[in-house]
This record gives sequence, structure tokens and C-alpha cells, in this order.
Amino acid sequence: MATTIIEPFRIKSVEPLRFTSREQRIKILEEAFYNPFLVRADDVLIDLLTDSGTSAMSSRQWAAMMEGDESYAGSKSFYRFETAVQKITGMKNIIPTHQGRASEKILFTITGGKGKYFLSNTLFDTTRANIEFSGATGIDLLTEAGLQPSVPAPFKGNIDLEAMEKIILEKGAENIAMVIITITNNSGGGQPVSMENIRAASRICKKYGVAFFIDACRFAENCYFIKQREEGYAQKTILEIANELFSCADGCTMSAKKDAFANIGGFLALNDAALTQECRNLLVITEGFPTYGGLAGRDLEAIAVGLEEIVQEDYLKYRIRSMEYIGEKLEAAGIPFVKPVGGHAVYLDAKAFLPHVPVHQYPGLALSNELYIEGGIRSVEIGSLMFGKYAEDGALIPAPMELVRLAIPRRVYTQSHIDYVAEVIIEVFNKRASVKGYEIAYEAPLLRHFTARLRPVS
Ligand SMILES: *Cc1c(COP(=O)(O)O)cnc(C)c1O
Repeated sequence: MATTIIEPFRIKSVEPLRFTSREQRIKILEEAFYNPFLVRADDVLIDLLTDSGTSAMSSRQWAAMMEGDESYAGSKSFYRFETAVQKITGMKNIIPTHQGRASEKILFTITGGKGKYFLSNTLFDTTRANIEFSGATGIDLLTEAGLQPSVPAPFKGNIDLEAMEKIILEKGAENIAMVIITITNNSGGGQPVSMENIRAASRICKKYGVAFFIDACRFAENCYFIKQREEGYAQKTILEIANELFSCADGCTMSAKKDAFANIGGFLALNDAALTQECRNLLVITEGFPTYGGLAGRDLEAIAVGLEEIVQEDYLKYRIRSMEYIGEKLEAAGIPFVKPVGGHAVYLDAKAFLPHVPVHQYPGLALSNELYIEGGIRSVEIGSLMFGKYAEDGALIPAPMELVRLAIPRRVYTQSHIDYVAEVIIEVFNKRASVKGYEIAYEAPLLRHFTARLRPVS
């Protein structure tokens, strides 16, 4: 019997890639102030900057978009969207937003503020920024296993339950805005959280009367890992696992640009009626009327169909297998990366890859830029450029890990693209000793990595 796991789709429409020379790329990078976010997409060959909004939509999604009902209030597309989200989350109240961060902004404006704490396995960059912007404090409580890039474990996204309970007692339950668990843990290697961990976290929250939320961007990938790795789930469908997982929570925020195969969109799902009312009141002044919330009817349609497709096992099997495939190639070449490979991305361990570049010279950025020069591949630094802070004396307080994320857009690249990516990484690894670090020439006060300007350290 043939065992190769193939792409579970065929290609109906194609988009050409544009090739550049090494000399051109050196110049392009210089003109972009050595920040991959400032490079034009057209100058990138294989774009692994993010899996956000970059999915290929299915013919069913495109067909549904033509059915989009653009009525201002009560559009048919909203009810279709609402039903699709309820089917997965089981939550009562569904609020569409233009992106995940809009859901965060609304929810945290109401629940956050000065003196409040948000506890998480790891907060994503926009999530942390929205918490801090409200005046509250975000605390990451990843288990020890999650902080060891080279040591594999099945659920490296788990929250440290003991530390969580300790902080609830220390700060007082009334000061904990919520516990919000990110599935999969994007900033910590795309690692999954176990059902056991989610159940236990939920139980602790109930005990102290603390709200329990899920940052659900990659819920389907997380559920597939639970099915594969956690006892008692092998016979369950992804939808059943998702239902069980969301039943532990009071609500969730979601970016439909990830596990909903949409190019834009998000939602906030809640059980509490009073909180929903407050969120909708904010929604109308920032996003739009409650039945479209910053989206066109056609976007709501694309999300509704995307949510049906994302829980299909043929797809998830191919998705997770293609990630493992890259991992195997890197492993064979001795390249340091976060193990096991995550659900949506491979995370190179830049600290181990470039041991001669100190953290204050941003080894992650240095590696990311080298991948671009070598092979036109765009990736993103997830390290001290993204999460670093300054001490009072101006010294850098580095992030716990220096990673380079190669996020794989859903249903977009084929096996030969991935083979090429692995070859480029290996090529850079072979000449790693010559790679130099960077220093910051300009930075914004929040989310500095998006717009920072850098220069190579001479
Ligand atoms: C992408 C993402 C968000 C924010 O969603 P946007 O749609 O980009 O605003 C929040 N949390 C996690 C874990 C994400 O990956």
C-alpha cells in the first residue's frame, strides 16, 4: 500500500513566483532597513513571514463568497457564520471582528485596566500589547519543558498550573482579569496544549472565580495533536475534541486568518450575557454593527466554510505531516530547532544556530535576514527584537528564547517548495560563522518589530 501522504487537493488557479538575484536581495534588504516586515512581498520568493491571512481558499469558499449577503443588519451571511462558530465552540454569543486583535482590544478594554493581571501559557505579541495598552499586566507561565527548544515533549504549550495558582493567590483572584491559554502556543514554537492541562486550568479558575479564555487561533491543529498524542482521543473526531476543549472555557478570541482559511476576519465568542452586551457596545463604535463587526458579508461566508474545512482530518493529517517532513530534513542536517516541530511553523533556534551573535545583536533577525539573502525566503524573528524590553539603565532584557519562525501558509506551497526551503537553511548553516548581528536605529514604543529600522553591526 502506498504510504506517501499527499496534498489533499489539486490546484485550479496559480500565482507566479518572482525570482531575484542574490545581489538584488542584498540591496532590497538594505533599502528595507534590514527589517523583513519592510520588504515588498513581490521581492520575496517563498514567503514564510506568517500563516496569517495567507491561506489558499478552496473553490467552495470562493463560491460561498458570491453568496455573501451585504445587508447592513441581520445579513444571512452572519447567521451562517454564527452557526459555524457555535458548532465548533458551543458558545452562546458570537461577535464578528475584523481580526483577532480587534476581539482582544474589545475584550481587554472591558476586563483589563490598571492593577489587573492576565495569566497565560504565552501571550502572543498583539495579545500582550492589547493587555498592556489597557494598563494591565500580562504574565507568561510556560512549563519548564516549553522553554527547552531542543528537548521534545508532546505538549510543550502547557501552562504551569502550580505557578498559575500561586499567582492567583498572591495577587488576589479579584485582580486576575482572566487566564487565557493560547492554542497552539504561537510564540513558543507552535506547541500544543493538552486537554488535561486545559481541564485543570479551567478547574483552578472555577475554584477562584477567575474567567477562563482561549486564544483559539489554531484550535484545529491543537485538537489534531490531542488526537495523536493524548490518551483517550484517538477515536474522537476533531470536532468532538474541539467541542470538549471549548466547553472548559468562558469564551475565546480567534483570528480567522489562521485556522479558518480566511484572508481576513476574527471573532469573540462568549457565554456571559452581560459581558457580551458590553462587548457589543464597544463593537459598534469601533468595528461595526453586531451582525457584521468590521467584515463584509462575503468574508463571513468564507470563514463559515473555512471552519467546516479546517476540522477535516485529511487536511490536518497532511498539514501536520508536512510540518514533520521539514523537521526530519533539518534534524538530518543537525540544525537546531524547536522540537518537536509545531503545527503551523518551524522555529529555528537562533541562539544555538548563531552562538557567536550575542542576544543584544538580535541573532534571530540576523538569521532571518541571511535566509532572505541566500534564497529569497522571508521569515520572522520571535526573540528579543519582538519581545525584548529595556531595564532602567537602558540594558536589554532579552526574551527567553531567540527563535526564527518559518510559518507555512495553509494549502499554498508544495513539497518541492519545502525541499528548497530546507536546502537554503542548510546552506546558511554551513556558512553560519560569517553571519553578523544587528543594532536598532529606530523603534516604535509598542510592537517595535513591525517598523523597526536596523543596521548591521560593523
Ligand atoms: C494571529 C494571532 C493573534 C492576532 O490575530 P490577528 O488576526 O492577527 O489580529 C492573536 N493570538 C495568536 C496566538 C495569533 O497567532
